[in-house]
Order: sequence, then structure tokens, then C-alpha cells
Amino acid sequence: MPSQPSFPPSSPRVLGVALPSPLRRLFDYRPCRETPADGWQPGLRVQVPFGRRQVVGVVIECRHTSELAMDKLKPVDACLDATPLPADWLWLCTFTARYYQHALGDTLHQALPALLRQGRPLEARTRQRWQVTATGMQDDPPGLARAPRQAALLAMLRQHPHGLISHAILAQSFSREQLHALSDKGLITCNEEPLTAQWRGRNERLLAEPALPLNAEQATALAAIHERLDAFHPCLLEGVTGSGKTEVYLQLIEDVVRRGLQALILVPEIGLTPQTLARFRQRFRAPVVALHSGLTDHERLDAWEAAASGRAPIVIGTRSAIFTPLARPGAIIVDEEHDGSFKQQDGLRYHARDLAVALAHHHGIPLVLGSATPSLESLARVRRGDWRHLRLTRRASRHAPAHLELVDMRGRPRQGGLIPPVIETIRETLSAGHQVLVFINRRGFAPTLACQACGWLAECDHCDARMTLHRQPPLLACHHCDRRRALPDACPTCASGDLRPLGSGTERTEETLAALFPAVPVHRIDRDSTRRRDAFEQILTEVRRGDPCLLVGTQMLAKGHHLPHVTLVVVVNADGGLYASDFRALEHTAQLLIQVAGRAGRASHPGRVLVQTLHGDDPHLVILAERGYEALADQLLDERRIAHLPPFRFLALLRLESPRAETAEALGSLAADFLRPRIREQDLAVDCLGPVPAPMERRQNRYHLQLMLAADRRSQLHEAVSQLIAWLEAAPEARRVRWSVDIDPQTLA
Ligand code: ADP
Ligand code: ZN
Ligand code: ZN
Repeated sequence: MPSQPSFPPSSPRVLGVALPSPLRRLFDYRPCRETPADGWQPGLRVQVPFGRRQVVGVVIECRHTSELAMDKLKPVDACLDATPLPADWLWLCTFTARYYQHALGDTLHQALPALLRQGRPLEARTRQRWQVTATGMQDDPPGLARAPRQAALLAMLRQHPHGLISHAILAQSFSREQLHALSDKGLITCNEEPLTAQWRGRNERLLAEPALPLNAEQATALAAIHERLDAFHPCLLEGVTGSGKTEVYLQLIEDVVRRGLQALILVPEIGLTPQTLARFRQRFRAPVVALHSGLTDHERLDAWEAAASGRAPIVIGTRSAIFTPLARPGAIIVDEEHDGSFKQQDGLRYHARDLAVALAHHHGIPLVLGSATPSLESLARVRRGDWRHLRLTRRASRHAPAHLELVDMRGRPRQGGLIPPVIETIRETLSAGHQVLVFINRRGFAPTLACQACGWLAECDHCDARMTLHRQPPLLACHHCDRRRALPDACPTCASGDLRPLGSGTERTEETLAALFPAVPVHRIDRDSTRRRDAFEQILTEVRRGDPCLLVGTQMLAKGHHLPHVTLVVVVNADGGLYASDFRALEHTAQLLIQVAGRAGRASHPGRVLVQTLHGDDPHLVILAERGYEALADQLLDERRIAHLPPFRFLALLRLESPRAETAEALGSLAADFLRPRIREQDLAVDCLGPVPAPMERRQNRYHLQLMLAADRRSQLHEAVSQLIAWLEAAPEARRVRWSVDIDPQTLA
């Protein structure tokens, strides 16, 4: 794999081209006859013949020689760009491919907007702006005596010294014909301008609303970030929900834009709500470009181009927005940096937060990572002194964040998962005119269906998993492979008719609460209830009106949403992650509990958070409830150090998948047999563990196994992984097994 795009000889005889292919190599072509205006350079897109197809690739190397015979090389069909794709963007893609040991061609392919990988030109779409000419400004302009509509149009345009765009003019019921008639008479002219207009910043008009006066902690944090604006300068901004992190981001961005630079803000998938976006757009007159999954291909290209050209000073987006090129990068902000959605879980398995660190370092600019519950990775960096730790401990509103009250459910009867004293507290809260949020991390009616006579449980035929019982509509569904089945009338093993739901999911809790509190609306928020595009926003709008209501929901509800009238949060069951096998499960459970708790008491009333558990004396849970997230994080960091786990060790996972367990197992053993002696010979301090079955071995009727590599030094881990990949790419046995490599896996599943 190439390390850096090489500098081109003036007229190369060979182009090393990255193509959308899983193969970790470049493909050599001859230049076409027509040389691009500024000569061949890395970063130019080319169209090339590839097998029987035509594909779009990116020139990475310009050379005079090839390992193949020159007369075997095909010429590229065409060069698609006049100027290369941005060099810093190419750097990031190259870095990503090397770090995650992924094919460069496929990395570029994923990092490009769809239209660019289809070969469309990289140029701004334009719109027309009409302005009055000097002649048109004269008193009594010629040629309008018998054209009253044209005269009216001219009169309107004369009110707008900067002109108006076609769209705005046509909306006033003027016609294109009238515009062209005036233009033919020389009274108005038309200019093409990009859809996202150039922001001419550095002036007082930047803010559409004044910045808030910062409290002392916010001011200290902002000053610390400002200390060095021209150097890599990572800061972890830790503050509970509502402590004013976003206000700090906004004021940093203001500064960046005033200096004529651009800010990139990454937010979790669930966090880029119309609400969040509105907050940024309300503050700035400068355009805020948003990149999210709802964009059309054209909109995505427009956003990319506006960022790459430097016209868009503020770019905000989810994970993949890290691949948006910036002409004048000034700062990168990652909000909720601990959030799992920053890691892509298939194909190119990158972590956008970690790439943000690399990119800010490359540019030499400030990086702010914000969270109420920082990842242990980031906390470890702070403890080592690599990153600044900035804290916001007070909420801007007057209430301190609610602490968690553990409620022991052992031996208590449950209704829809809730025990009587908790139901009583819900009743009191509703009577006081407030809202209640009930958090339950399972959608569906019940986790499964059980036979009371013989103990049969509804299991998926294709996975090592139980099927979830749904009532709306009634069916059994596997949440791992999406298989559905009709509800059986009788037990398939003993024919008993006594089949009952086991446990509770959102539907059941919703049903129970609706029966208990018939006078109060119950809103369920989970993936099933919000399939319609704006269903979620509609519920939130209603909830924000403030009338008493019950919200029942999964993590969709836990994150980011401002629910000012909720004063009681109930966690139906905190125990799921306490004894899970995954080494990050406790960290994630703690983060989720704190996030959910952060929903309570944001406005005028203090909040309470009741956490139901069967393990009220679990030491981790007790630390979290009594001493808070940081204390638990300290404890978990100690445990990770002792157990030789990340962030004190580096991991890579080779995942193997096949319809037959033996096939995957055989390849895993061969791979381990190949690697172990090499690790020894080369004195690499790398452990190679496995192959072992994945935590859920059978999924969608395919068997999943894994081989884990662990090392104290990143470079040694990468060395071992690249030798393993080279072997897999060459081994005939590997063709029958689907395999993938995950560097810094977030989960061992
Ligand atoms: P976070 O991003 O940490 O959740 P926000 O920045 O959204 O916190 O702030 C929470 C609320 O407090 C918002 O309504 C915000 O307008 C308000 N706020 C933030 N900073 C200040 C301040 N310095 N003075 C007054 N209100 C503030
Ligand atoms: Zn039975
Ligand atoms: Zn299944």
C-alpha cells in the first residue's frame, strides 16, 4: 500500500490508480492521450476499463515504471477533473486506509459523495441572481410604456441593491419571460452564483443573536481552548447535559469564522436533530452546512463542494462528515465523543472520533471533544497528560443534575416491569402536573414467549437468539436477522396452550401504563413507533408543550433531546450490562444511565431518577449512584489496566464467517498457525488468541468466529495484522470464508 501520494514526474508513463475494489493495491494504467491542464497529479479522478466494466478511480501515483510489462497496460479512458481532489482529504483517506488496513480504493469510494464516484464533475451548482443595471436605475427607463408587469418587476428589483435570485422573483408571480424581456432591454443583468453563497465573514454581522455571557467555568474552558489556535491542541470538555458545552462550541466557532476559517462539528447519529441544527442556524448568519443521511445525492455534493471550496464556514454532520474536505480548517469539535455511532461497524470500520484526532493533528488546529460521560480512551489520554481536561460542573439552569436512586426489585411484584413504589412515584409526579420518562432498553412487547408447561422458549431458527414477542402487530421477530413468525396457538414441543410473555419490552410497559393512568397520554418512542419519518419530532413537539404525559422509550429517547418538563426518570432495569461478557459493557451501561438521568429536571423543577435493579449492592452500580461517573470511570480504568485491556492495550479482531462452522474454524486455525511462529521469529510482543466462537456464534444461519490480536505497542499490532492480511489475501482457503479485520474493535461481538 502506498504511504503517501508520490510527487509526479512531469509526464509520467504509468499511473497507479486506486479503484473501488477490496484488493489492497493500486492498479497500473497508461495516461490517456489528452493530458490534464496542469499535468498528471495524485488526486485526479479517472475513468478506466476494469474487467468488463468502466469504473471511476483516483490517481495515487505518477511513475515511469510498472511491475507489469508496459504493453500490457491499458490506457485510462479519460481524466474527469481539471484540478485534483483536495490534498488534505486525500491525506485523510490514505491515513484511514493504512490505519484500518483497508483497501485505499474502497476507502476513497466510501469517502466520496455518490455523484463524484459516479464521475460527475466537482463544481458548485449555481443559481441566477438578477440585478438592475445603470440604465435600469435611470428615471423613466425606456421601453416600459406598454409593459406594466415589466415596470412593476423593475420597480421591485430596484428595491434590492444586491439583486434577487430567480426563485424569489418567480415566487412573487413574475415570469421568466418578463425577466428576459427586461434583460434584453438592458435594464437588468443576470449573474450565476453558487447555491451556497460565499460567506464574507470577519464582520459584526456574523451573529444573528448575541452570544450568552459565559459563566466562570465556561469562560475558563473557552480561554484554555483559545490558548493556542494555531496548533494541535486536544481538549476534553467534560460536562453534564445542560452544563453549557454547546454554548462553548458556539463561541469557539464564532471565533474560527471571524478569523476566516472553517469549523467541522461531528455529532452522533441520533444527535443531528432539527433542534440541534436550528440552534446553530439561529446563532449564525453564516451558512451552516449539514451532512446527514436525509440528503439527496445532489445536496450531498453541494455540501461537499461548499466545504471544499471554503464557502461554507460551518460544517456539521454525523460520522461520515469526517470525510468532508475543508479548504481552511480552523477547529474540529466532536460532541458526545463517547457515542458508539462514531464507529462504523461494517466495511471500512473507522472511528470518526479517532480520525478527528489524526486530522486535527495533521492540520495543527484545536480539537474539542465534549461529553458528559467521556470514553475511557479519552479519559486515559487526559490522565497521561496528552490532552487538556476542561470541566463544566454546574448547569446553566439552577438545578444540579439528579443523582441515581437505586431501587431494589428483588421479591417485588411487577406490572409491565415496574414495582409498586415506583408506580406510586409516577402517580405523584403526574398529579403534580409533570412529565415522566420511563426508559426500557427493549423494544417489542416482551423479550420472548415461554411455555408454562414444558419451559419451551421461542427461538430463532437462524440465530442463537430468542425471538421477541410483538403485539402491534402480533408476531414473533428476531432482532438479529429480522425473521418473523406468526404467534403459535400451542407449544410446538408439548402442545400446551399456556404460552406467556416473558419479561417486558416497550409495548408492554406502554400498555401497562396506559391501563394504570387512563387520563394521561402515553407516548412510546422506539424504532417501531417512529418508522414514519417525522413521527418522533411530532411526539417531541407535543411533549414540549408541557402537559402531563408519560414517555416510554429506548435509547432513542436517552440521548440529546431537551425535555424540559420531565421531572422523573425511571429506568426499568439497569442490570443488562452489569454482567455482560463484553469488556466495554459496564462503561456503556454507565454512560447510558447518566445520559438518561440527564433528561430529568432541566427546566424549572428538580428531577429524580429511579433505577430499578436486582443487584442493588453491585459495587459498580453503587459507585455510579453514590459517587458519579468519574469515580466509576477511575475504577474501570484500574480494572482495565490490571486485565490488560484497552485503553492500556491495543486490539485487532479478525472476524470469520461461513455457513459451515468447520470451514470458518479451519481457516481461523490455519491463520493462527501462520501468524504465531512469525510473531515469535520477529520478536513482536503480540498475543494471538483463538480462534473462538463469537459471543453469538450463529447469526442468519452463518457461523461467526474470531481471532484476536493484542499488543502493548500499536506499531507491533499493525505489523502483525498486515502480515495476517497478506496471508489471507493469498490463501486459497480464505476464498470460501467471509473475513474482515477490525482495528480497535468497539465490541467483541
Ligand atoms: P450542553 O451542551 O452541555 O447540554 P447547552 O449549551 O445546551 O448545554 O446549555 C444548556 C442550556 O443552558 C441551554 O438552554 C443554554 O441556552 C443555556 N446556557 C448555556 N450557557 C449559558 C450561559 N452562560 N448563560 C445562560 N444560559 C446558558
Ligand atoms: Zn411446552
Ligand atoms: Zn434470527
